[in-house]
Amino acid sequence: MKSILKSVPGLVLVTIFIFSSCNTNTISEDVITLNYANNVTPGYYQVIEMYQQLANTFKEAKLIEYGTTDAGKPLHLFVISKNKDFKPESIKKDGKTILLINNGIHPGEPCGIDASLQFANDILLNKNNLKINLDNTVLCIIPVYNVGGALNRSHYHRTGHKSPKESGFRGNAKNLDLNRDFVKCDTKNAVTFTTIFHEWKPNVFLDTHTTNGSDHQYTQTLIAPQHNSMHPIHGKFLTDVMLPELYENMKKGDYEIIPYVKPFDPSSENSYDSSPKNGILSYIQTAKFSSGYTQLFNCLGFMTENHIYKSYYDRVMSAYDFINELLIFTNNHSDEIFENKKQVSEMISQQEDFNLTHTLDTTKYNYIEFKGYEAGMLKSTVTGVERYGYDLTKPYTQEIKYYDYYKPTLIIKKPAYYVIPQAWNEIIERFKLNKIEMKQLSKDTALTVEVYYIENFEDERRQNNGHRVHRNVEVKKDVQQINYYKGDYVVEVNQAWNRYIVEMLEPQAPDGFFAWNFFDPCLESREYFSSYGFEANALKYLNDHPVFKAEFEKKKQDDPEFAENHRAQLAYIYYNSEWNEVSYKRYPVTRINDNVALPIL
Ligand SMILES: [Zn+2]
Repeated sequence: MKSILKSVPGLVLVTIFIFSSCNTNTISEDVITLNYANNVTPGYYQVIEMYQQLANTFKEAKLIEYGTTDAGKPLHLFVISKNKDFKPESIKKDGKTILLINNGIHPGEPCGIDASLQFANDILLNKNNLKINLDNTVLCIIPVYNVGGALNRSHYHRTGHKSPKESGFRGNAKNLDLNRDFVKCDTKNAVTFTTIFHEWKPNVFLDTHTTNGSDHQYTQTLIAPQHNSMHPIHGKFLTDVMLPELYENMKKGDYEIIPYVKPFDPSSENSYDSSPKNGILSYIQTAKFSSGYTQLFNCLGFMTENHIYKSYYDRVMSAYDFINELLIFTNNHSDEIFENKKQVSEMISQQEDFNLTHTLDTTKYNYIEFKGYEAGMLKSTVTGVERYGYDLTKPYTQEIKYYDYYKPTLIIKKPAYYVIPQAWNEIIERFKLNKIEMKQLSKDTALTVEVYYIENFEDERRQNNGHRVHRNVEVKKDVQQINYYKGDYVVEVNQAWNRYIVEMLEPQAPDGFFAWNFFDPCLESREYFSSYGFEANALKYLNDHPVFKAEFEKKKQDDPEFAENHRAQLAYIYYNSEWNEVSYKRYPVTRINDNVALPIL
């Protein structure tokens, strides 16, 4: 559908028009005034004030305050419900779907903030009969998610941007990137978002962004859920129904979209310096990202990436068009979306195997039409050195490969239960926040459990949002009897949110709690041994274990360096003896693979 306002470029005005008869309000003018046509985006207080104005004017709208954020201000949710029902439970009971739009996670990328405001104004006024798209769907909008970042306004935050004249900052009040915080919840923003998300349980989610990646002719690109990374029912619905219809309908309007342009170049570390002519690829949004997080809860999570090199007006209008199309689709396919989620949730609660990691299948691809600009190495006018760049005088259209198939690389069989000692309260808090059902042991109990030892891992080279993320984790399994205490937690892995449970608790999951340092204390030895003090017990151990003693003597003979090193020899004995700390590098969450009866409260 075309942007309704496209014919009104100087848009700082009050538009008069004939209102629809189905609206009980006698409003015929725009309630709010936006200024994106002049490169201006509203500040945080203005945004909230405008939503309040809309809520005061229309009975179908409500502005709700939730919790708090790191800036000490609440998070707002603006709800548009045609039958004025603002209770998520009864909305669900009616079989309606919920579309949640999140804006301003990166406040320097504000076109979604303007677009959502304009769209809320227009749909409430029933311009172009838009309200018909609320028959089966309730629209929820987070006006500005990163409140602290939105309050920190400047012209100079984004070096590549020409517009808008002033906008917010990427980091939140704690200088964290909120689009990396959906697992770890280091911010109050993420905690409050999680509360909203589980109260409203959206079926479809959109997070609005702007990108400065490669240049091309499109004003907007789309990061859709990757179909191989989700349940096949959802994957098939996406590839066969949802994406073709969204792309097709956007093409009919003024802002054709394509998948996000990430050039395919296995030989380069920074593929943004490669030509999209060699193909582009989809990628999997893992759980730390908004859209990846929502998918763990069987919600279809999208991200739009508007293109900073286009005018701010076009960016807002293209975001507006996509919001409109996504709502139209959600409303028209409401029954199917509703049923799919129900079915997927039931099947995932019974699912045995979970794919933790994936790799791109470079042998499979489709062709898509791509409208780009010729690119290559150009001489920099600043440094005189050659750099990669685009020649905007040379547009082209050609078919390119789109790599959109992934293969699983690590498949984990779910246990019947995970056991989480209550000492790991940060995990318990996050599980409770995410509505995971847990039971507690009713008494101190010894349980036979499957344990992981962390054999190896690498740390990311750079600090990542206050963490040093663990990658390429290798584990070894063992079966042990461990003493648990009354009140320790047991998670039965038979829940609709099984993906969240498994992907948070398995130590090899790329965005799990181990990766994000929650279990780092298990990587330290607490007792160890003294080179002097362990001597007597080391000798006794050797004498009590003649087979091991013979191995030890042989190693000394074969390895002269070892034979000269007192500490290395003691360590060799220590690690092979019962003095070795059994809890050292033992991952604290354990697995029970059979459905045994447990003493639970
Ligand atoms: Zn962004």
